[in-house]
Amino acid sequence: EKLQILTESKKYPVFIGEDSIQSISELLKDNVGAYSKLLIITDETVASLHLEVLQSYLKENGQAAVHIVPAGESCKTFKVYEDCLSFAIQEGLDRKSVIIAFGGGAVGDLAGFVAASFMRGIRFVQVPTTILAHDSAVGGKVAINHPLGKNMVGAFHQPEFVLYDIQFLQTLPAKELRSGFAEAIKHALISDISFYEYLKENITEINDLIRNQDVLIYILKKGIQVKADIVEKDEKEAGVRAFLNFGHTLGHAIEAEAGYGTITHGEAVMIGMVFALKISIETYDIPFSLVDFISWIRVLGYQIEPTQVSFEQLWQWMVRDKKAVQNNPVFVLLKEIGEPELVKLDKTYLQKVYHELFSLSN
Ligand code: NAD
Ligand code: ZN
Repeated sequence: EKLQILTESKKYPVFIGEDSIQSISELLKDNVGAYSKLLIITDETVASLHLEVLQSYLKENGQAAVHIVPAGESCKTFKVYEDCLSFAIQEGLDRKSVIIAFGGGAVGDLAGFVAASFMRGIRFVQVPTTILAHDSAVGGKVAINHPLGKNMVGAFHQPEFVLYDIQFLQTLPAKELRSGFAEAIKHALISDISFYEYLKENITEINDLIRNQDVLIYILKKGIQVKADIVEKDEKEAGVRAFLNFGHTLGHAIEAEAGYGTITHGEAVMIGMVFALKISIETYDIPFSLVDFISWIRVLGYQIEPTQVSFEQLWQWMVRDKKAVQNNPVFVLLKEIGEPELVKLDKTYLQKVYHELFSLSN
């Protein structure tokens, strides 16, 4: 299965399949061409579960250097970033070298930023191992965190290709399945009601995601297509790319307030989507049952309200959001399922909805 991503700055393929990792050597030959050295950047968890498989298919390409970083969000620091650069220099990487980002979105963001900045930019390849990475591996945003803010230091740097082998996803814990699946639901809600209905029919418990290969491949493909269509229209986020932030205005605030890593990104976004759906239904009178939606995602194991956090605390994060305009957070609402639009909403209204929905007294 192959998709093409066409951005203004670059055109590159995304391959998705079962055992597609077997063709990595060939794909490097066809899509990257000549290179001097390979560097795999991966995290501890992914390395212990899957590194051998990746290495075994890279044998004929000579020994790839491997740099293993801490798992999860903690790899997106200046310290780890610097370690990656030091390793690359010590290993003798040069302008003709290629980095393989092997892991979830965190590793992809880190390794992508290393590639974007090492010697003013070298090529890289994404081999994602999470469902969430169907979102992060496409679009070319790469970044690390600053102590004062997430993803504050980064670049736009598109990969040479993305290679998704769903066998790697079999080891994902339920909470990471949930995190990634929330973004798939987001992609459905902002683009296509039939995709949404497909998800609702086919995924009735969270492990269904890794039970049926065809379903998983279909979901990843559709999700990537939605993201790609938007990124193709708007690589640098001047307009429609903002629609990808559906559920994220409140979601980001919940994530930041809880502390990154406490609640997964997708789980926080899910709460944000419930909130944005409620406002959308109220505003546009769309025929969508929030009750059905909530009972579906509850069964999948999502938390549907923020744990004991006041609206005021979240508000502080929302106004600081990169997308806020004059202290008013900008929300993505749905005029209909599949039809997003940007709306600036004021504090009093948001607070009212928040209290109605999450029935907290504070
Ligand atoms: P992640 O890379 O932190 O992975 C989540 C956890 O799962 C980690 O602990 C990881 O070690 C583990 N893991 C990864 N693959 C596994 C596997 N196959 N089996 C078992 N465990 C595995 O995070 P993520 O959820 O994939 O992505 C979140 C990150 O992506 C955030 O840093 C976020 O900022 C970033 N992101 C970037 C973009 C973008 O456009 N660049 C978009 C969305 C999110
Ligand atoms: Zn997201």
